Amino acid sequence: MRRLLINITGIVQGVGFRPAVYRYACDNELTGWVNNNTSGVTLEIQGSDAALTRFMDQLRFAPPPLARINTFTQTEIPVKKESGFVITESQSEGPSVTEIPPDTSICPECQKEMNDPSDRRYLYPFINCTHCGPRYTIVEDLPYDRPLTTMKIFPLCPDCKSEYEDPGNRRFHAQPVSCPNCGPHLALWDSTATPVDVDNVIAATVDRLKAGQVMAIKGLGGYHLVVDARNESAVSLLRKRKQRPDKPLAVMVRDIETLKQYAVISDSEAAWLSSPQAPIVLVKQTLSNTDLAPSLVIENDRLGVMLPYTPLHQLLMKSFPVLVMTSANLSEEPLVSTEQEVTESLLNLIDGALVHDRPIAHKCDDSILKFMAGGPVMIRRARGFVPLPLPLPTGGNCILAAGGELKSTFGLNRNNTAYLSPHLGDLENYATVQNYQYELTRWQHLLELEPTAVVHDLHPDYQSTRIAQQLGLPILEPVQHHHAHAAAVMAEYGLSGPVLALCWDGTGFGTDNHIWGGEGLVADLSGFERLAHFEYMPLPGGDVATKEPWRLALSALWQATEGNPEQAHWDRSNLIPETKKDFILQMLTRKINCPLSSGLGRVFDVVYGLIAHTQQVFFEGRSGMALESWAVRSRTEICYSYKLTDDGIISLQPLYLALIEDLRNKVRVEDISRKFHNTLGEIALAVSRYLRNLRGDYPVVISGGCFQNALLTELVVNKLESNGFTVYGSRQVPPNDGCIAYGQLAIALSR
Ligand code: ZN
Ligand code: ZN
Ligand code: FE
Repeated sequence: MRRLLINITGIVQGVGFRPAVYRYACDNELTGWVNNNTSGVTLEIQGSDAALTRFMDQLRFAPPPLARINTFTQTEIPVKKESGFVITESQSEGPSVTEIPPDTSICPECQKEMNDPSDRRYLYPFINCTHCGPRYTIVEDLPYDRPLTTMKIFPLCPDCKSEYEDPGNRRFHAQPVSCPNCGPHLALWDSTATPVDVDNVIAATVDRLKAGQVMAIKGLGGYHLVVDARNESAVSLLRKRKQRPDKPLAVMVRDIETLKQYAVISDSEAAWLSSPQAPIVLVKQTLSNTDLAPSLVIENDRLGVMLPYTPLHQLLMKSFPVLVMTSANLSEEPLVSTEQEVTESLLNLIDGALVHDRPIAHKCDDSILKFMAGGPVMIRRARGFVPLPLPLPTGGNCILAAGGELKSTFGLNRNNTAYLSPHLGDLENYATVQNYQYELTRWQHLLELEPTAVVHDLHPDYQSTRIAQQLGLPILEPVQHHHAHAAAVMAEYGLSGPVLALCWDGTGFGTDNHIWGGEGLVADLSGFERLAHFEYMPLPGGDVATKEPWRLALSALWQATEGNPEQAHWDRSNLIPETKKDFILQMLTRKINCPLSSGLGRVFDVVYGLIAHTQQVFFEGRSGMALESWAVRSRTEICYSYKLTDDGIISLQPLYLALIEDLRNKVRVEDISRKFHNTLGEIALAVSRYLRNLRGDYPVVISGGCFQNALLTELVVNKLESNGFTVYGSRQVPPNDGCIAYGQLAIALSR
């Protein structure tokens, strides 16, 4: 007979861990107790050697599905006289090192109960259990226990209470457990936020959607704006009201079978869609000749899809094969997550709302994955993944990394573990700044982390830089944007460097005060050398230029023809008024408001601007998306020519002129776009060889928003790997600026 004291840390609260311990203890006729505390789960367990061994094997190798064990320590203690095994009260002293579990999609057992007319939760939109349901988005404080979640306002009815207290029940200590008698309820609002009295809220919502209305529907981490995806006028109404003329809209599809009518999906894409994380996956759409609204996708071969991940979504999707479900927010503002925010900021956009009274403690967008180069790549990391920790190559005291400006996130570390906030959006608007500051305070509290210093981007005017400087913490050496990109990849793979880094994105502040974004670096975690980059190009009008691709096209031609763009015979007189064109040329000649950029994102804008007859685009990334969508429809292996000088400057002037030649010769845009992508694959190889010749044979890391482009990523990876390079790219964090805080943290900790 032996007695062991066992401490387990990791994701062990709110995932059915104690019931599993209880069950395994009873199965093996062991005695003792288990409880939750701020450091995880503690138990004392007593019995024969053989029974204890069996028990520990079961716990370690068959933990509850959502649990993740980080550490498992055991100490031999004196045997006690006792009978039976009990689950004791949670304790909340001591520092918290328990990880909060992410939100999880409805499990098969709950689905079955919800559709069983004899079940007391038949058609109940908030059904959940220890294997599924809201987690992070309802947690207000630790330990993860009902009184410290937003479920505290719903006292358990006797039936729910007995399930909650029965260690043999699937709902034992499931904090969000509830039923129609004691739990949250739905309500329907009209366009003025006045409750509408209806018998069946879901049926009434379905009717409104079928009538073409725009509805706000409350989900796990916030509201969605929802319309019938088959109704063209509803989809265009939504685009018009949301002022989102061209940006992709995500859809929710009833199930994988239905999805196959609209997209080509691989088995692993299907597996991710159906996973407990239930992200949006950007799949290859085959929408032409389907019943879906034509304006759903614009110049995009991908469609963002997700499956119904909450019981409420499943009930709605009984009436629709596909619904548009886009984040409810004003352009780049944070997701709307409270009824007050619906009233304050959504009423101009919606015809009604499906609300409920379970509060959301943290705003959390849908995560987005895109499959490329043999696996999934995170494009937006939020619901289902936060607040799971990420690895860091080195540890140290807690540092706050303030992140970037667009697609911002912040990061904190506990020794060599990083906690990355969910995608918070663009800090260029005040509401995002406020939400960033709110979550920063909440996260420090929840994780019980007090940063001893702060690290921020090199850009002096980023809001994240300003926030960092106002915290009153010691400020560490700022991190250059593209160094952070490279370091994020290194951190994910545990590389300490040196590495050769291709950092291809839109914008990052360079050490020479110019805008970088097409960089060839040699880097380790403490520093970097910039040895190659795309040729600087003036951006007439600065930021405005990125919204009007023809301006950049004109700038590139002005450069390629030494100030005589008419020699290039690129005619867009139908698009650009002569006066406006002259004005831009004057700006270029006199160097007025023409910041210099080496960003590859701007090169994509130039190429798109040269090809397309579009006056204006409304979101960054439109050019890349359109060019990728065209290029995947071509099989040509031809490249354009370019120059790589001895100084490491990549010039695309020959490419631009040849491209216009192709346009004049009526070469298909698909082929032109493919040739452009092929050329970038060649350039990746040439730059990597150039860096290797200068500094040594190191692995290549690729990062930056341009690598959200699957075709580009695959061309680059294949080209490099077939020529003997080892290539790493972000998968767990986005290659876009969502990774900046993570990279900053890795760098600050190793300096
Ligand atoms: Zn469940
Ligand atoms: Zn109940
Ligand atoms: Fe970037």
